[in-house]
Amino acid sequence: MDLRYARPRKDLILLLRQKGIKDKSVLEAMGRIERHRFIPDSALHNHAYEDKAFPIGDGQTISQPYTVAFQTEKLEIQPEEKVLEIGTGSGYQAAVLAELGARVYTIERFRTLYDKTSRLLRSMKYTTIRTYYGDGFLGKSIYAPFDKCIVTAAAPHIPEALIDQLSVGGMLIIPVDNGQGSQDMLRITKLEEGVKEEVFDTFSFVPMLKGRT
Ligand code: SAH
Repeated sequence: MDLRYARPRKDLILLLRQKGIKDKSVLEAMGRIERHRFIPDSALHNHAYEDKAFPIGDGQTISQPYTVAFQTEKLEIQPEEKVLEIGTGSGYQAAVLAELGARVYTIERFRTLYDKTSRLLRSMKYTTIRTYYGDGFLGKSIYAPFDKCIVTAAAPHIPEALIDQLSVGGMLIIPVDNGQGSQDMLRITKLEEGVKEEVFDTFSFVPMLKGRT
């Protein structure tokens, strides 16, 4: 644990509370995680506990802490749940889910990011996170069903496969393009028949793209 960042991390958690995040387990999990370690450019480490997105290479970003907290809170994670994440990126969101006791399956479409982040998570001893290189539009059917699913890139529509791969009662949190250059955060709950759909605030993500590179 790098003590230089203890104070800014505490302040960040306070800010998240002020912005409306209530779930104590989410706030505590984020209070334990060293976000600067997920940001490759060490020149940015002094800023790592600001509530901002930062570049992580390949034109991608580590999500803003408020966004991570918001999406995680809405998933109501319980220990041992199987959670599918689309868009591994820096690995920070996956680490938050793992801190909450989830068994995480996370998919990234950029080979270089996948390699880099897989190594990082291994070195940090996150044994409950499994990383995959692939196209998240397809989900990960061999490990379905999942209790929860989180998409961390701007989706043009709700991928059918992600609903199919949820268990009944399972939830998907996903930012979907609203045609105005931003995304509406949707929470889809799978029912015995059909789904329940809730709409939350507007956010801004990097795009969810088809295929892998
Ligand atoms: N959860 C990440 C956020 C990274 S930004 C974090 O905590 O840092 C979104 C990521 O989604 C990018 O790395 C991008 O490459 C990835 N992505 C975009 N479309 C994807 C797809 N179809 N399948 C898998 N990953 C995708």
